Amino acid sequence: MIKNPLIFAATSDVAGKMRGKSFPVSDLEKRTQKGVGWTPTNVMITCFDAIADSPFGALGDLLLIPDESAGVALDFKDGGPVERFMLGDIVDLDGQPWEFCTRSLLKAALDRLKAAGGISLISAFEHEFQFKSGDDQPGQAYGHEGFAQRRAFAETLMAALDQSGLASDTFMKEYGANQYEVTNDPAAGHQSADQAVILREVTRMTAKRFNEDVTFTPIRDPDGVGNGVHIHISFLDESGAPATYDKDGVAGMSKITGSFIAGVLKYLDSIIALTAPSDVSYLRLTPHRWSAAYNNLGFRDREASVRICPVTATDPSSIARQYNFEYRAADAAASPYLALAAIIHAGAQGIEDAMPAPNVTEEDLSVLSPEELKSRGYVRLPETLELALQRFESNETVCGWFPADFAAVYTAHKRGEIAHLNDKDTSARCAAYEEVY
Ligand code: GLU
Ligand code: MG
Repeated sequence: MIKNPLIFAATSDVAGKMRGKSFPVSDLEKRTQKGVGWTPTNVMITCFDAIADSPFGALGDLLLIPDESAGVALDFKDGGPVERFMLGDIVDLDGQPWEFCTRSLLKAALDRLKAAGGISLISAFEHEFQFKSGDDQPGQAYGHEGFAQRRAFAETLMAALDQSGLASDTFMKEYGANQYEVTNDPAAGHQSADQAVILREVTRMTAKRFNEDVTFTPIRDPDGVGNGVHIHISFLDESGAPATYDKDGVAGMSKITGSFIAGVLKYLDSIIALTAPSDVSYLRLTPHRWSAAYNNLGFRDREASVRICPVTATDPSSIARQYNFEYRAADAAASPYLALAAIIHAGAQGIEDAMPAPNVTEEDLSVLSPEELKSRGYVRLPETLELALQRFESNETVCGWFPADFAAVYTAHKRGEIAHLNDKDTSARCAAYEEVY
């Protein structure tokens, strides 16, 4: 059959969905200059495709400019089509970043971090997901049999990620029913978020080639565990040397790391609407699910919102290279760009305010009374999306990190999403989200 291959120019939007338009490969040079047309009201398309109340109506024009450095051309060599897509930035007709372009918002946050602390960011997104098919066989948590059942898929996935420019790290059978985890190596600046978008898409594509469906939904079964996105973070100083670790710092945190994490914890309840942004995200963010329920820093504690991760090295310079912390209160309903931007802004605020390093917990905070929690500076994170949105929109500092209309547009979008779920019970809500993420 004759064909003219197409490249899909894409944004990972406010709903955490990859959307865009395609153009013929032969037009690549032109399109990387001129982009493809885009519409402001698209920012109000929720994950369920209902359009929330839009301040833009039918007005306005934008351009989505594909970035060749975030391009994928993936040939599974199974006789099926080559998958071609390219992530990009949305600009207005004057070429300025559009205020709701998630990738541009992340770039602005990275600039702020550099100005605040003279540091650049290295990060990696660790993803959990579930196959929609397969029996919930007991005894498969972290198991070899569970792994072997999906070995063929996993080996193709490793090759597909490799072809897509991601250095694959590990693949494993996770704890939950039909749940798996895939990790890839860290990358600099906005590239790690590009890679997270690519990883989700490529994992879905790979599953489809095996006639399977996977979901990254925050939680599939209200009685089970959730699918987390853990964002691992470290810093480099201006000379490119590791800047996250100090052997004399609290739990090994350098001064700048301490201030960054202190900022993240201080603003966590107000940014969580951006990092865990679905209605069902708050079923996952409950105690004893190895996710995150309080704004605490844990030392190797998987129930903490921010966790200092283990290192395998023993000499100081190797420890400094490996040392990283992870933000655990995120999920795949969030665009990786937006989640990372929110975390960076909170951290940069902590650096600008020279906040001292937080205390480190190694205990179960859920057994403490509200008074005890408060006296130690901890809060229970919002327990619904609506509460999370209220914390976001009422926190002037946090809203001020984003363009003027961002909070109003974001909360209107999310309230449109909630309205769509109005008549649904908990399991119907979970089912709705697993269809779209
Ligand atoms: N599934 C857990 C979550 O929702 C994480 C388990 C783990 O520590 O890998 O974040
Ligand atoms: Mg895991």
